[in-house]
Amino acid sequence: MTTVAAYAAPAAKAPLERTTIERRAVGEYDVLIDIKFAGICHSDIHQVREGWGEAIFPMVPGHEIAGIVSEVGSGVTRFQVGDRVGVGCMVDSCRECENCLRGEEQYCLKGMVGTYNAVGRDGEPTYGGYSEKIVVDENYVVRIPDGLSLDVAAPLLCAGITTYSPLHRWNAGPGKKVAVVGLGGLGHMAVKIAHAMGAEVTVLSQSLRKKDDGLKLGADHYHATSDPKTFEELAGTFDLIVSTVSAPMDFGALLSLLKVDGALVNVGAPEEPIALNLFSVIGGRKTLAGSMIGGIRETQEMLDFCAEHGIGAEIELISAAEVNEAYERVLASDVRYRFVIDTATI
Ligand code: NAP
Ligand code: ZN
Ligand code: ZN
Repeated sequence: MTTVAAYAAPAAKAPLERTTIERRAVGEYDVLIDIKFAGICHSDIHQVREGWGEAIFPMVPGHEIAGIVSEVGSGVTRFQVGDRVGVGCMVDSCRECENCLRGEEQYCLKGMVGTYNAVGRDGEPTYGGYSEKIVVDENYVVRIPDGLSLDVAAPLLCAGITTYSPLHRWNAGPGKKVAVVGLGGLGHMAVKIAHAMGAEVTVLSQSLRKKDDGLKLGADHYHATSDPKTFEELAGTFDLIVSTVSAPMDFGALLSLLKVDGALVNVGAPEEPIALNLFSVIGGRKTLAGSMIGGIRETQEMLDFCAEHGIGAEIELISAAEVNEAYERVLASDVRYRFVIDTATI
């Protein structure tokens, strides 16, 4: 076991503070990673505040991890000391069920093991990326291509894959009109990726405050959802809408913006349920779907795609001591566009 410094919430809703945690000894198939950067996902905040239900404390959040391999177990074949690697939202799964076998470990029938706020197969709680080092089975580690800097690559491990996966699955590409709802961490990645896939991209944000940024990120159009005219003008426009909104919103209104056979894929994970009049999907044979992160193979595919297209996240690099302030800014939709902790400051 190794003792490492970390930032943890000691209890629900408590501010994060510096502490130490134990990492397991490097097993036969494990890699030890020196964490260099850890992104702050809105999911970290939902969980620290127990917004999704009872959670495990102390909690070390962080599932957007980029670092360097510093030790490998004797059975490891895919990584060597010095490799640039990433870890996302899961660190294990059953490896036997039909979903694991087809590379969609995030939908493991026995439940994937989350990078934090979970219990590992060894019965111990898992601790995430706001820490100096992590030990992970090599099967749940991905390679960060040389063309991507580690700081801007970290957010790809959650924000990148969570948006790449539905965009890819629902065929965002040339000739397709894609709307992205919410220009935060996930939303800004969705804009960059959908643009790189060749789609015509529209941002639907609460206001026009971030319009210049949205257009620079690759959006072709930008509208405010607070303006009722947006819904009149854009009715029946989109093939695909990806909603990244972290709070409950009017899904009926969003569905009205789809073409016949269009799909609204929700990746946001609000703490409260929504009400929906089902006539919004009946008329126009529309699909309302959800999507959760992506499998390990697809995460590697996404990283390779981003490297090929020169896509990293737009980040604000912070020290660990600034994490509580950063949480408040994320909650106020004041993030441009992902906070990333420089773990050397822990
Ligand atoms: P974020 O950076 O806070 O972005 C969310 C954006 O939603 C905000 O920037 C804001 O965009 C918009 N928004 C916030 N409150 C709103 C409200 N009341 N009404 C309308 N729009 C609002 O968060 P994130 O890290 O991108 O995460 C977004 C959500 O996805 C979170 O709930 C997170 O837990 C979830 N998530 C899900 C998965 C998955 O696998 N499905 C993975 C990661 C995260 P504008 O300012 O542009 O309006
Ligand atoms: Zn996340
Ligand atoms: Zn499984």
